[in-house]
Amino acid sequence: MMTRRTMLELTVLSAAGAVAAPAADPPFTLPKLPYALDALEPYIDAQTMQIHHDKHHQAYVDNLNKAIGGDPVLSRLSVEELLQRLDTLPAAVRLAVRNQGGGHANHSLFWQTLCPASKGGKPGVRLAAALERVFGGPNQFEEKIQAAALGVFGSGWAWLALDQAKNLTLDTSPNQDSPLLAGKQPLLGIDVWEHAYYLKYQNRRADYLKAIVKVVNWDFINARYEDLTR
Ligand code: MN
Repeated sequence: MMTRRTMLELTVLSAAGAVAAPAADPPFTLPKLPYALDALEPYIDAQTMQIHHDKHHQAYVDNLNKAIGGDPVLSRLSVEELLQRLDTLPAAVRLAVRNQGGGHANHSLFWQTLCPASKGGKPGVRLAAALERVFGGPNQFEEKIQAAALGVFGSGWAWLALDQAKNLTLDTSPNQDSPLLAGKQPLLGIDVWEHAYYLKYQNRRADYLKAIVKVVNWDFINARYEDLTR
């Protein structure tokens, strides 16, 4: 059901010019990888990266465009805005936004939170202190997110996120459910869909998890944490 608040928001958007014909270009596009396909070798192989980014992520983008690309109001919102107000969207598009929009948002962040092993940096002073408070320290956090990710049944994600009080949380989600659905801001997501690791690691999810923590971009996560908590 559409709430009055969303109706008002959508009316404002329409008044801002959204009533014009939809643009020829689809509203959602696949972001470029911020590094080469083989940049995460040997931990994550180039073929997995190519299929994961060029095929799987592209499919989420294409399906999200199919679902709402023709809607001149909804397609003006960012994918994060759509997920944050999922309950207020028209029922007919809710599932597509949750799954395809979730897939698009989750992967767009995922690529940025990874980088070559030599360039990962480390949490800054404030983030390190928060990791210490909540998890016992960065190393303990790394163990805990691996354990959480290992425990996801089937396809899903393990997340380091910020709740509305700006506290760090460790969560898991099924499918492509984003922390944005729960009013949280994701800082780091570990993708445990088999498409993220099966070519190199087959059924050995634990080995994939030991590898992926080697290519986490702490400099990026730290900057995001600073942006979201200042
Ligand atoms: Mn994935």
